[in-house]
Amino acid sequence: MTLETIHACPTSGQAVTSCCGRTPFELPRMDRMSTDASLVNCRTEAEEQFPVGEYRLSTR
Ligand SMILES: [Zn+2]
Repeated sequence: MTLETIHACPTSGQAVTSCCGRTPFELPRMDRMSTDASLVNCRTEAEEQFPVGEYRLSTR
């Protein structure tokens, strides 16, 4: 099972994603983008505070 990061697609007039403030070119190639906010699971702030693996274990 692959957990892929889905970023918020930049809206028209914006060059960077609203979730993590990066341009699509800066995002990891495996990551995806969506215009549907309910699908976005990019959580830059959380990942900066907790290692991704421990964060997911602590929430399950
Ligand atoms: Zn993002």
